[in-house]
Order: sequence, then structure tokens, then C-alpha cells
Amino acid sequence: MDVSTHIEAVQAEVRRRNPGEAEFHQAVTEVLSSLGPALVRHPEYVRGAVVDRLCEPERQVVFRVPWVDDEGAVRVNRGFRIEFNSALGPYKGGLRFHPSVNLGIVKFLGFEQIFKNALTGMGIGGGKGGSDFDPRGRSDAEVMRFCQSFMTELYRHIGERTDVPAGDIGVGGREIGYLFGQYKRLTNRFDAGVLTGKPVAWGGSHARTEATGYGAVFFAEEMLATRGASFDGRRVVVSGSGNVALYAIEKVHALGGRVVACSDSSGYVVDEDGIDVELLKEIKEVRRERLSVYAEARPTARFSARGTLYDVPCDVALPCATQNEIRREDAVALTKNGVLAVVEGANMPSTPEAVEVFREAGILFGPGKAANAGGVATSALEMQQNAARDRWTFDQTEARLAAVMRDVHAECRRTAEEYGGGADDYVLGANIAGFLRVADAMQAQGIV
Ligand code: GLU
Repeated sequence: MDVSTHIEAVQAEVRRRNPGEAEFHQAVTEVLSSLGPALVRHPEYVRGAVVDRLCEPERQVVFRVPWVDDEGAVRVNRGFRIEFNSALGPYKGGLRFHPSVNLGIVKFLGFEQIFKNALTGMGIGGGKGGSDFDPRGRSDAEVMRFCQSFMTELYRHIGERTDVPAGDIGVGGREIGYLFGQYKRLTNRFDAGVLTGKPVAWGGSHARTEATGYGAVFFAEEMLATRGASFDGRRVVVSGSGNVALYAIEKVHALGGRVVACSDSSGYVVDEDGIDVELLKEIKEVRRERLSVYAEARPTARFSARGTLYDVPCDVALPCATQNEIRREDAVALTKNGVLAVVEGANMPSTPEAVEVFREAGILFGPGKAANAGGVATSALEMQQNAARDRWTFDQTEARLAAVMRDVHAECRRTAEEYGGGADDYVLGANIAGFLRVADAMQAQGIV
């Protein structure tokens, strides 16, 4: 069977076996459409059905999460943990708490995570989990009871050598704290390495909170450097205003750029003086309020509930909100306004149509599985510190993060060039480089 027929057959089987899981199909198609040149060079992967095996999670756990709200009403959510691939190490990946979460979303995220984690070179497999629980508007006590119920099932599936969850959308330090507390109570073990993203005071790593946003900016910096450019004096838009966006904004400012717009699900703000990141943190992380509050507090800012921040002219766009937020028309607007680089802090924020627009226009495009790998890479650093009962300084940890991002960037360019895409084809480079590491390990470990 020739390679493209093989790839099409695997895609058709994924669609047949996982009906209705649109985001999972999209993520599989995105990766598989890069793999042709790698499979031509490695026919043994076709014979060993490596791609077929990669697309089938090793284990999928779906469970009921019952809890009681502050009014005494019983609520029921659904919990997920997809243990996708352990060829390179224990399953590793975050938990997402958001009403949009379903099996297809968790599988798309888990699938992406396999290649992202492989790219970091850090010995971590791919997994993802979460729940359709909506933390918005819930009290601390409700979030705690939900996390305790969620962990009451999850604890039997995880472990520092088995599966190590962390945060994602809707899961930050507060949730990790409640999850860890319940894990410890159920197992009677202080296994610090069972979760990452812990507060620094009891087993967390310095720079883990900042890592995804900082890492995406380091990756963008490397991309700009290939054009002899930098962030200095550049106009930047960052979508989102959660953990990834906040620290992306902070690092862009530290490097001399100016972030003039950011967003949340209610709309976006434009602030020509540059987003005040401390004010934004206070509003989003402490007060947990909507973005319009930012514009009320800043005379230089205006809030808009309609339209999109991608209409705001910029040199660099950092999508840091969620999947499929950049549609074709957004990509066209960015391109018309002269964007130089689009670098994904979120997971799969660009639709396939948007990526096509960037590709045709010759815009530098950094795919999420490479550009946002800094978060999970720093989680792996947290695991190292936990295993050694050690704590590194912020500067030491940030330097390791920066080195990982430089390596991932270089590996994407080297691989893209080697497999015929040209060094600027970061999509090809990231997909093939990640795939080869996982495929080699899977072949060496036999048919499992
Ligand atoms: N949720 C993050 C990601 O998408 C981090 C995962 C982790 O640290 O395990 O990569």
C-alpha cells in the first residue's frame, strides 16, 4: 500500500470509530497530513501499524462526578482521563474544566500532547483529562467539593510513574491544591510528583505558572530572529486573558514589545498604551471578573463586546485563548494588516482554513504543539525537582525553559528542512520531529 493510501485509510478508520468527535478528527488530520515524507523513509512504521496504533488511546477513563452545590442541590458532571500514549514516559498532560469539554475535545488535546511532549525531549508520554464542570460563578467551597469528587475516581488511575495530570483551562493553583489534598487523603501518601502546577510552597516549581506564556514568547522570539527581527518596538495582540495570555503579555513587555489588545469570552479590550498586566491579573485571577472591568479602570482602554481583536493591526499575534478561535476571516484580516508572525500559545487555536491563509501569505506560523510546549516542559522540570526533593531558583528554572524552547525551535527547523518543507515550515517540522521520537520508541517496545 502506498503511503498516502495508508494515511487516508487510518484517517477514515479514526472517523468511523470515533463518530462526531470533530476536534479529534481535526487534530488527527492535521498531524497525519504532515507524515507522508517520514513514512516514505520508514516503511517499517507502515508495516508496524505505528500510525494506526498512535491514533487509538492506550486507555480511556470516563466517569461520573457527583457533587452538592451551595444550595444543597445534587449536581452531576462527567470526568475524563485519556491515557493516550506512554512510549516516551508516564502519561502527562493537563485537566480542563470547561462546559465545552467532551470526549472529542479531550482526545484532540491528548493527541496533540503526545507530539508536544515528545518535542520537549523530556521523557513524558501524552495524556489529557477534564470535565464539563463550569467553575465560572462557583464558590470556592463548590470548586473544592467538585475537585474532591473528581479525584475520588481519578486517584486510582494516576501516579508519578503512571500518569501525571496538571492544569489547563479552568484548572489553576487553587484546583490543583484541592485535587492534591484529596489524593493525599485517599492514598495516605505525600506523592508530590503525582500532579504538577502545585504552589511553590509545597512541591511546585518556580516559573511553572509563567512557563506556557513565557515559552511561547521565547519561541516567537526565535522565529523573529530568523528574519533579523525582535519584539523590540513591535505591536502585539494576545487573545485570551487566562494563565497563558497573562504571562505572554508580561514577557512581550519585558522584551520591549507592546501588547495593545487582549480578550475573554465576553469581548476584547484595546489599550494603545499597552495592557497593564498587573491590573489584568488582579481582575482575572483575584477578582475573577470580566474584561469590561479592565476598560472601566483604565482611561486609555476601550472594551468591545462585538467584533474580534484580530481586526486590531499588529506585527505579531499570539492566540492564547482556545481551539479554533482564528477563523479564515480573522487570518485574512491579520494578513491584510501586515502581521509578521502568528505563534500559538493555546492548543489548536487556528482552524485549518486559517493556517492555509498564513501559509499562502508566507507568514511565519508557529503551531501550538511546538510553541506552547514550555508549560509541559516546566512540568517535567517540576517532576525532576520532586523526584530529587529539590527546589531550583526562578532564574535557574526559567533558563532551563528558555533552553528547551530554543531546542524545540531548532529541531522544528532542522526537521522541516530535512524532510523537504524548507526550514520555515514549522508545521511539518513539529509534526515529523514529534512523530519520529514516539514512533521509534513504539517500534523498539514491540506491538503493545
Ligand atoms: N495543559 C498544558 C498543555 O496544554 C500543560 C500540561 C502539563 O503541564 O502537564 O500543555
